Amino acid sequence: MTVDVAWATAWVRGSAGAVLEHRDELVELDRQIGDGDHGENLARGFTAVLARLDALEEPPAEIGDVLKLVATTLMSSVGGAAGPLYGTAYLRAAKITGAPTLDSAGVVAMLEAALEGIVVRGKASPGEKTMVDAWTPAVEAAVVAAHAGSGPADVLAAAAAAAERGSDATVPLVATKGRASYLGERSAGHRDPGATSSALILRAAAQAAS
Ligand code: ADP
Ligand code: MG
Ligand code: MG
Repeated sequence: MTVDVAWATAWVRGSAGAVLEHRDELVELDRQIGDGDHGENLARGFTAVLARLDALEEPPAEIGDVLKLVATTLMSSVGGAAGPLYGTAYLRAAKITGAPTLDSAGVVAMLEAALEGIVVRGKASPGEKTMVDAWTPAVEAAVVAAHAGSGPADVLAAAAAAAERGSDATVPLVATKGRASYLGERSAGHRDPGATSSALILRAAAQAAS
């Protein structure tokens, strides 16, 4: 599938489906090292996103319009850390996608912008047991895949696989940012909820393009 506005809509619907399907798992992960609301937060946010998509009188014209709708909806409906972090990610991603379709370089630029938004907002570095630990390897893998000549769908697939590995790799880490950092060493041995939801969202992006 071309990475165009139909892809963006399918990505958002797929993300909502994945978040709702994994809501309890995300709640449980956040219960272990946070306050147990990550699954609820994202389920509420993406349900609101679907409602706003369905209420549009005309289909969105551009990828950026879809991403901006997600950004503003998540910012206004998701409290806590994840709302502003994901909101900023989608807002940044929306700005670089003025083109009707994204080629591999465009996909890389979109993912880079999203990661940049998360870092600007949350000031976390890789290894602090946050969603940055899913997005950083995702962007790196996307760059490598694009450089090797992969098409946009394969770039997204490489990013999703790397995000899943990055999410797995948060398990032994000690959190030094976010609520989990209050636990100190006791945060080790648990998967980070935000890295987990990020991997779900990036997998949905790849699936929407396949
Ligand atoms: P809250 O912690 O406010 O309840 P959520 O439970 O919705 O918010 O989200 C928690 C997730 O947010 C964490 O698992 C982590 O991935 C992410 N997070 C928290 N703080 C930061 C940060 N400073 N930078 C990046 N991600 C962060
Ligand atoms: Mg929480
Ligand atoms: Mg909370």
